[in-house]
Amino acid sequence: MASEELPITPSLWPEPPPKEKVEEYLAELEKGPWPSHVTELKKTKYPVYIYGMGLVAGATPWATSAAKAPGIYSGVLSRMSHPWTRITPPVFEDHARVLIPSAQVFTTTLLRFLIEASRRYGWGLLQFIGGTGDVVINVDREKLIDLDIFLRRIGLDIGGSGDVMRNTVSCPGPLLCPYAIYDTLKARDFTYSCLIDWATYPQFPYKIKFKYSGCPIDCLKAQARADYVIIGTWRGAPDIDDEKLRQWIEEGGDVEELVRSCPTRAITWDGSRLSIDGSKCVKCMECIRRAYPAIKPGKERGLTVLIGGTIKSRSGPKLAKVLIPFIPLPSPDKLEEALMTVFQVVRDRIVPKWDEEGWRRERVGDTLIRVTWQRFLRDFAKFDPDLAAKITKATPTEPYYSYGITFFNMSEEQKQKYLEDLRKAMETWQ
Ligand code: SF4
Ligand code: SF4
Repeated sequence: MASEELPITPSLWPEPPPKEKVEEYLAELEKGPWPSHVTELKKTKYPVYIYGMGLVAGATPWATSAAKAPGIYSGVLSRMSHPWTRITPPVFEDHARVLIPSAQVFTTTLLRFLIEASRRYGWGLLQFIGGTGDVVINVDREKLIDLDIFLRRIGLDIGGSGDVMRNTVSCPGPLLCPYAIYDTLKARDFTYSCLIDWATYPQFPYKIKFKYSGCPIDCLKAQARADYVIIGTWRGAPDIDDEKLRQWIEEGGDVEELVRSCPTRAITWDGSRLSIDGSKCVKCMECIRRAYPAIKPGKERGLTVLIGGTIKSRSGPKLAKVLIPFIPLPSPDKLEEALMTVFQVVRDRIVPKWDEEGWRRERVGDTLIRVTWQRFLRDFAKFDPDLAAKITKATPTEPYYSYGITFFNMSEEQKQKYLEDLRKAMETWQ
C-alpha cells in the first residue's frame, strides 16, 4: 500500500479548546429551572474549568498520577491535568475512598464529620457512589495524612482500592426488609473487624469482594458480582401461619394463583389447607413475596456460602457456586460463630492458597476453573473427600447449586444436560 493511502491520525489528543467555548458550554449546563451539577461544583474548589475543557474536547482532561502518603497503602487515587490541556503548572486531583458504615446508613453526626473533613482537608466535595458503596473525598495532596488521622478518630478508614478486599457490601437486611434471615449489617461490620488489614493493605494477586444478602432474593446480585457471597436461607419448607393465611385470603389473596406461582409445584391447596413440600422447595421466595407474612422463610435458618462470582474477569462472567451449602443459624446471637466458620475456610485456607497459586490479576473464580473445582475443594478449601464429593455432585435444581462453571466452559454433555433441565423447568413454569 502506498504511503499516501494510509489513514492519517493527526494526534491522539485534542488541542485545548478556546476559553470562550468552554465557558459557553459550562454556562449552558447551568441554565434551566432544574439543579445544575456545574453550579454546585462551582461552590467547591473543584477545577470546573478543566472539567469543561474535557466536555468540549470530548476527551478526558485527566491523566494518572501518584500521591505519596506514608502509612496509607490503599484507597487513594490520584490524577493530574492531562498534558493536552497545557495547564501549567498541572493541577492535581487526589481522592480518598472511605470505608463507610453498613448499608450506607449514616447518622447525621457522621455526615457532619464527613462534611467537616471534606472542607478542612479537601475541596468541600463528597461523592456517594452507589454500586461500590464508597464515599469519596477529594483531598489536598499535602493534607492526605491529616485526613487519614481525622477519619481514624471518628472510626473510619481509608482503603478498598487496588489488590485488596474491596468495600464489602450488605443489603439493608433487617434495617428495612422483613425477609431478612440474618443481620447483614452486623455481618459486614464483623467482616471488617476481622479482616480490616485486607481492606487497607494490598497483598493479594487481585481484588477480593465479599457481599452479604439477607435472603435468596439476593437484591445485591451478589451471586454474579462477588468472590465470596453469604446468603441467608433455610432448610425445608417455608413457614405457613394458618391464621394469617386465612386473613390474606379474606382480603383478596388468590390462593390458586399462589399455588400456580411455585416453579417446582411444591405447594398444594385442598380447599381449606395449604401445604408445602419442603423437599421440592428451591427457596425462590415467590410464595413468600406474594403472601408475606402468612408465609415466611422456614424456621430452620442458616447461611449458604458461595464462591467465585464475577462480571468481568479472565474467563468471563460467571455465577458464584456453592462452597458451603448450609451453616445453621439457630438464633441471631449465633451469627458471629457462623461467620467464624466461613472465615476459617476463606481466611485461613482458601485465601492464603490463592495468594500462593493465583496468577496476577486472577479472581478466585478464575483460579478454581483453572485448577478444577475438585482440586480447589481438596487443596484450597481443604474439605474432606466426602464433603467435596457431595458439593461437586449437587444438582442444579437445588438452590444456588450450579455445575460450578460457566455455560461456555461446560463440556458438550454438560451443556446438553443443562439445556434439558432448563427446558423442563420452563415447561413447569408455564
Ligand atoms: S436480599 Fe432479601 S433480605 Fe436483603 S434486601 Fe433483598 S429481599 Fe431483603
Ligand atoms: S419458596 Fe419458591 S419453591 Fe419454595 S414453596 Fe415457595 S414458591 Fe415454591
